[in-house]
Amino acid sequence: MARKFFVGGNWKCNGTTEEVKKIVTTLNEAEVPSEDVVEVVVSPPFVFLTFVKSLLRSDFHVAAQNCWVRKGGAFTGEISAEMLVNLSIPWVIIGHSERRALLNESNEFVGDKVAYALSQGLKVIACIGETLEERESGSTMAVVAAQTKAIAGKVTNWDNVVLAYEPVWAIGTGKVATPAQAQEVHCELRKWLHENVGGDIAASTRIIYGGSVNGANCKELAAQPDVDGFLVGGASLKPEFVDIIKAAT
Ligand code: PEP
Repeated sequence: MARKFFVGGNWKCNGTTEEVKKIVTTLNEAEVPSEDVVEVVVSPPFVFLTFVKSLLRSDFHVAAQNCWVRKGGAFTGEISAEMLVNLSIPWVIIGHSERRALLNESNEFVGDKVAYALSQGLKVIACIGETLEERESGSTMAVVAAQTKAIAGKVTNWDNVVLAYEPVWAIGTGKVATPAQAQEVHCELRKWLHENVGGDIAASTRIIYGGSVNGANCKELAAQPDVDGFLVGGASLKPEFVDIIKAAT
């Protein structure tokens, strides 16, 4: 089954109004493959979501970087899935390694967030990935399988999920996974989905790679059969994000 290439830009906790306008102008002026070929989603900080949505070309979409685990209410500082839906934000990133590490988000908590976001009609970019220590001790697959299991057990509609494999040691470090390393884990993840969720879902679910992707390394990674796109951090704030979108063809 053909899987449409997916490119997400995670702006993290960056940007001023002026910087955001500049990035959006660059994206709006870019000549990229059509929406039939590549799905592009940018994820600004919450405070810029509606601003970006109002300025951004209509063939690109927006994602929040997180949302609360349950229905909104007395949870100071949190943003609920209902609020995102109310603002017509279609996507949300859940389980990013920075939140897992810095805010102690467990596999179970991430799974619960995925469940709630999907129940409200959001589409989810669900992040998984091992640390350097875990890779060096040979437990990469065990770690990502456990993370995926906690998510998969809560997924009601796989059409609304993109799985982002982001090795922690590659995020923001400039140390990108080799195409062979990325392909190996993506292939294993697809096998895991096949065995634990189902053949059709394994064949149709996009598994994207994240971790120091840039304009120079994206083509070789995109050529791997099980790499269905990217989640891009640092380079999504720069004009080279356009080159990464073009890696779809
Ligand atoms: C990310 O934060 O999801 C990411 C992949 O970051 P970077 O591209 O900067 O490594």
